[in-house]
Amino acid sequence: MLHTLAGPAAGSYRDRLREWLETAIPLQWRQRDEHPLTIDAEHELRRHWGRRLFAAGYAGLTWPREFGGQGLGPIEEFILYDELARADAPESLDTIGKYLAGPAIIHRGSDAQREKYLRKILSGDEIWCEGYSEPGAGSDLAAASTVAKPIEGGYRITGRKIWTSFAAVADRCYLLAKTSPTLPRRHNLSVLLLDMHQPSVQVRPIKQISGAAYFNEVVFDGARVEAADRLGPENAGWELVGMTGPFRRVRFVRDGLRHYSELRDLAARFRECAQQHCPADGSVARADRFVERVELYRWHLMRLTELQANERDWFGPASVIRYTGTELSQQITEAGLALACPRDGAYWRLRYLDRRSATISGGSVQIQRNVVSTAVLKLPRPPRPQSAGRPS
Ligand SMILES: Cc1cc2nc3c(=O)[nH]c(=O)nc-3n(C[C@H](O)[C@H](O)[C@H](O)COP(=O)(O)OP(=O)(O)OC[C@H]3O[C@@H](n4cnc5c(N)ncnc54)[C@H](O)[C@@H]3O)c2cc1C
Repeated sequence: MLHTLAGPAAGSYRDRLREWLETAIPLQWRQRDEHPLTIDAEHELRRHWGRRLFAAGYAGLTWPREFGGQGLGPIEEFILYDELARADAPESLDTIGKYLAGPAIIHRGSDAQREKYLRKILSGDEIWCEGYSEPGAGSDLAAASTVAKPIEGGYRITGRKIWTSFAAVADRCYLLAKTSPTLPRRHNLSVLLLDMHQPSVQVRPIKQISGAAYFNEVVFDGARVEAADRLGPENAGWELVGMTGPFRRVRFVRDGLRHYSELRDLAARFRECAQQHCPADGSVARADRFVERVELYRWHLMRLTELQANERDWFGPASVIRYTGTELSQQITEAGLALACPRDGAYWRLRYLDRRSATISGGSVQIQRNVVSTAVLKLPRPPRPQSAGRPS
């Protein structure tokens, strides 16, 4: 199997994209280290960037053309995210819409839902958040207790979600809620497409250990969702949360390449610090190993993309890649902090704190290891209480 993702068509696609990126990335973004952006300015820039990607034909690459996508394949998609990472482009704000809500609506939505939502997601005009986690239901999502009570023509939502990224800027929420008080776990949940612009939806930003506030608590106190905005049949939401199969494919590669970009910068900075401040204590050799592991990580992403392009089973490698990248970023930031490099102390402190969440945010690393041991390696399940574990 090839691991270059080369070929004439891929080459010219990459060339055109690279040329576009040379002038497309906003100056404000390029200069953010010298002139830091406020959180509002950053959100505005990232929102604008999503629209720009759409206008240039770089949104929904593998979405079918009939739904406004480009109808391309996994290789072009890899190239897009690879080049965005290489150019240090901003991350658009429409992640949840493009990689969760959009694909789910394509596969399970009604024609009316496709008509209502898909174009606005791709164009970056509507930003979405993912309302899964609750104070008592993070890894164990089946324990979600936010209630969607059936009422005339729809549902009345009461409950609380937590750690909801993008909620402060979101127009819509891909909400997991309990639609039956009597059915058993996993058979009592539905996914609802909730309008965030209602007085009965309150968003409270949560300040993170790094000082940033990228996620939120969201309180629903009688919010309304129309029956037409339930995705799929009532009480069949668990399948939409698990998102195996085509739902999850794009997100793995995109998230992986975003991590790669981050890892590459961390490893390069670590090497620079090691060379300047402690060239004789083995830190430079350690830096070289980090660089190798980062490039190996990218190689695995290429392999994963080729498996996808050839319609081979990609779930196993993807499950392992998910946590190896996040763990590597923590190892580099820990080593960077330990270097006690006088010029870069603040840089490493911030990155160290910021990376703490990496092994939690997309489902904790312990849960992901459980998934690899049971779903990939088919080892026996460890004995455990009733909890289900977050679907991968
Ligand atoms: C930066 C960030 C962004 C996030 N964004 C979102 C978002 O947009 N939307 C959203 O819905 N959620 C979001 N989350 C929430 C995230 O998905 C949860 O934090 C994560 O699933 C873990 O759940 P929890 O925090 O409730 O921890 P818990 O589930 O309480 O777990 C606590 C600890 O116990 C371990 N554990 C739990 N169960 C098991 C088990 N069965 N086997 C082994 N170990 C176990 C876990 O690994 C963890 O170490 C975000 C989190 C972060 C940090």
